[in-house]
Amino acid sequence: MLLQKPVQFLKGVGPQRARQLERIGILSVGDLLYHFPREYQDRSSIRPAHSFAHGDLATVRGTVITGQETKPRRGLTLTKLALEEEAGIFYAVWFNQPYIKKQYPPGKRLLLTGKMDRSFGVPQIQVADHEVLEGDESLHSGRIVPIYPATENISQRFFRSMIKGFLDGVGANLPEFLPDEILDRYHLPCVAEALAEIHFPTSMEACQRARKRFVLEELFLFQLGLCLQKDRTNRQEKSHRYKSRKVVKSFADILPFQLTEAQKRVWQEIERDMEASRPMNRLLQGDVGSGKTAVAALALYKAAASGLQSVLMVPTELLAEQHAASVGKLLEPLGIRVALLTGGSRRGRKQVLEQIAGGEIDVVVGTHALIQGPVQFKQLALVVVDEQHRFGVRQRAALQDKGHRPDILVMTATPIPRTLALTLYGELEASVIDELPPGRQPVKTYHLSLSQAGKAVGLIRQQAVEGRQSYVVCPLVEESEKIDTQAAIELHERLKRALSTCSVGLLHGKMKPAEKEAVMGEFRSGSLDILVSTTVIEVGVDVPNATVMVIWDAQRFGLSQLHQLRGRVGRGKHLSYCILVADPSTREARERMAAMCRTQNGFILAEEDLKLRGPGEFFGTRQSGLPDFKIASLIKDQREIEQARAEARQLLKDDPDLRLPQHRELLNQFALRFPEFVKYSEIS
Ligand code: ADP
Ligand code: MG
Repeated sequence: MLLQKPVQFLKGVGPQRARQLERIGILSVGDLLYHFPREYQDRSSIRPAHSFAHGDLATVRGTVITGQETKPRRGLTLTKLALEEEAGIFYAVWFNQPYIKKQYPPGKRLLLTGKMDRSFGVPQIQVADHEVLEGDESLHSGRIVPIYPATENISQRFFRSMIKGFLDGVGANLPEFLPDEILDRYHLPCVAEALAEIHFPTSMEACQRARKRFVLEELFLFQLGLCLQKDRTNRQEKSHRYKSRKVVKSFADILPFQLTEAQKRVWQEIERDMEASRPMNRLLQGDVGSGKTAVAALALYKAAASGLQSVLMVPTELLAEQHAASVGKLLEPLGIRVALLTGGSRRGRKQVLEQIAGGEIDVVVGTHALIQGPVQFKQLALVVVDEQHRFGVRQRAALQDKGHRPDILVMTATPIPRTLALTLYGELEASVIDELPPGRQPVKTYHLSLSQAGKAVGLIRQQAVEGRQSYVVCPLVEESEKIDTQAAIELHERLKRALSTCSVGLLHGKMKPAEKEAVMGEFRSGSLDILVSTTVIEVGVDVPNATVMVIWDAQRFGLSQLHQLRGRVGRGKHLSYCILVADPSTREARERMAAMCRTQNGFILAEEDLKLRGPGEFFGTRQSGLPDFKIASLIKDQREIEQARAEARQLLKDDPDLRLPQHRELLNQFALRFPEFVKYSEIS
């Protein structure tokens, strides 16, 4: 296939150029063609200098005949070149750019843009922008010209001539791979035409249509992958069956609280999935504190009561310990065996692994890393994934590789805007808990500058006197755990001095799991008034007596993270506070602080966060699981996401495995763009 050929296949690309291109991710001819312009410059309206009126913004072209440099006064250098065009002579002037005269000796051809001055006899242009014209002039001027993302060592000219050369040659015959119906339905150009128009537009309208084609193409291929994945699971039969509903109902009755209406509704959806003959793939969204864990416990119970095994996967060891304790408290009195799988001691671990393999353990709680490791189950039926969005296609495949087709429930407290949910989790059904348990009071949120931080200390002291507890979260310096730890230690010392009558604990990432758990245990039991911590406490920690969350250097955190942290308080019956200590220096950071003070609604904050930071940052670049779209924007192209989804569905209805001969090119493209989907599905 032409597009898969290495770039060196092109004339004019040698080994050195190839290395430079590789550095910006361009390896194949296809990569080069899909290196789209960042913007365009309309140079199509070049006219003779004489035809522009005084004050017009003009684009003109001419050959240098002479140059002159003057210094009319101190600190001002005026360069004036005389240029010749067919219609006559005109002047071009630059201020304080003394290199111009030397650089453009007589004979050079220049393209100039700037304001026209007709107050002299000869037209004179005050140059705002200029470019040297050489050789293949028509490529770089006299048309709408593409401007590529700036790249060290590789010029605009290079991209233009390579791409143009290819498109005018073999590229004109690139085979189409999108189905005709799609092109027709949205009035889109074929691939060869679209490539020509997106790089060298004949008009801006044509360029827009080309862009739309590539957006839809990219999203369509991606959605095709998601749908294939989903269909594949849907066609599977699970080997396990659960017992009837009655058992769970009696368990719900002994929960220490009444389920909210939202919890009940969501549980019905989950239970229906569990009882179906094909594996569940469900996403459970719910704001911090909405009671997702309680719903998960029902599912874990249902599995155990049916004699089946289940796992609860969480992102950190600390959370694993906490969940093992809280789930254990609920389930163990009912005779269910809950075990914590840690990376800790070898011997303990070996024993747990044996018990899991022997079926002596019903519910396993552990981190993703551990559970995806070499764990053998006797009869794994259900996997609950808590508090993260990294559980993608690959992770699911890893579980299936173990020979199980478990039901999967992914829980997330980061509310995901609808379009993103479709994109990220398009293959999952979604349930939402949109109601908090009764009696929750909003958390009073304030923003203080660093110089006002004393007020926060006062609040902590006063709350401690009333028997309440506080968290103090330390600045986070992404690059270095060592600096984080140091900052936490220093803040801990300062607070110990300032709050001498209180007991102040410290928790940071460098501590051993056992030490962390000991400190957490003290805080949970109430023997610590204050817990100073790096963000290890971010997710899932549940201490209802804690009423203050102070976040130091809050401007360093994203909105979703701030919201998560705030969710650690306001869990009991007491009024709670969140104090953001921050001196934000950017408008965006100030906007984040303001948004936190304005609303407690996680969905609104998530939308806001997405707007402020963009999807990549929003999900944290590496852990996002979001595909790296080249041209589609998850914000701007929402309609196209829906269209792509509908089209993918339609196509797979007629050709569920992409086996039809007319879809051969499509399958090739698909495999090229999204190899992970092909690897883990049965097509190929
Ligand atoms: P999430 O995992 O969604 O953040 P949790 O399941 O940890 O929320 O629940 C937060 C707190 O609310 C816990 O202390 C839990 O015991 C309590 N809780 C959960 N559901 C209810 C309910 N229906 N009524 C009262 N309290 C509840
Ligand atoms: Mg939770």
